[in-house]
Amino acid sequence: MSTLYIVATPIGNLQDMTYRAVETLKSADVIACEDTRISRKILDAYSITNKHLISCSAINENNSKSGIAKLLNEGKNVALITDAGTPCISDPGARVVDEIQKTEHKIVPIPGPSAAVCAMSIAGNTGKTWIFEGFLPKSDGKMRKRLAELMSMNITFVLYESPFRIIKLLKNIMETDPERRVMVARELTKMHEETMTCSAAEAFSNLSQRQSVKGEFCIIVYYNSNDRNDEE
Ligand code: SAM
Repeated sequence: MSTLYIVATPIGNLQDMTYRAVETLKSADVIACEDTRISRKILDAYSITNKHLISCSAINENNSKSGIAKLLNEGKNVALITDAGTPCISDPGARVVDEIQKTEHKIVPIPGPSAAVCAMSIAGNTGKTWIFEGFLPKSDGKMRKRLAELMSMNITFVLYESPFRIIKLLKNIMETDPERRVMVARELTKMHEETMTCSAAEAFSNLSQRQSVKGEFCIIVYYNSNDRNDEE
């Protein structure tokens, strides 16, 4: 029986790597990753060298005769990482985990950073329950439809968005409910980290007036506490 380790890596700040993650990656026979060039840089930072890396195609492989399942069947321990943060959280890995769950091999999580949890940890009162939504659909119509559904539930939810669509996302949130409180968390753990908690209208106004919008964004849309009694 072999082990598949699902290993979280930093979301920007290399000092956020855990000791256990480094030890696991050092001892794994093979490291499966998204982009081998990005992963080599991460691994170099912790002096994890001479490792057999396999790329994304293997992470997405669901044929047990090849890819990760084959390596595990050969008695090799495999560590799976993505470009940043926790694998399977808006990142590849879930198909492999599904497949390996059906075998005798063990699956072991090595926890660490994830942008959603990092943002939630400084969000304050988000109510008793929250939803991790991740990326919304790219098309305007579908994005608006899903936003309307989420906002009508009146539960805090967490979104991921790229710098290319962040203004569109904030505009759509504002047009659904301009007063809804949001937190915009940009470049968490990095040099240009910035967080802003305000109404959706203020967040849209702030970002849309900038000359350029760069970085990675995590958005928290808070539940509306005026509309609900929380028994906390
Ligand atoms: N698996 C990752 C995790 O555990 O957070 C998420 C990977 S997903 C492909 C990448 C998205 O996560 C980015 O587009 C952004 O929305 C969010 N993200 C990643 N790093 C971030 C950071 N340092 N600050 C804010 N958001 C971040």
